[in-house]
Amino acid sequence: MTERPACPYCRERERIRLLSAVGGQLITAQWHCDACNSYFEAVRSDFDTE
Ligand SMILES: [Zn+2]
Repeated sequence: MTERPACPYCRERERIRLLSAVGGQLITAQWHCDACNSYFEAVRSDFDTE
């Protein structure tokens, strides 16, 4: 887990915390943005094959 996703709501990249390595789907992780206090899921970097 090297790359942190940007918050989809406020585009914050620094104050992002990983909540769970697995989110609603196997390829997603669950994150929390401390900047806008939002939860979001992002595709895990190790599954991002682009
Ligand atoms: Zn945010």
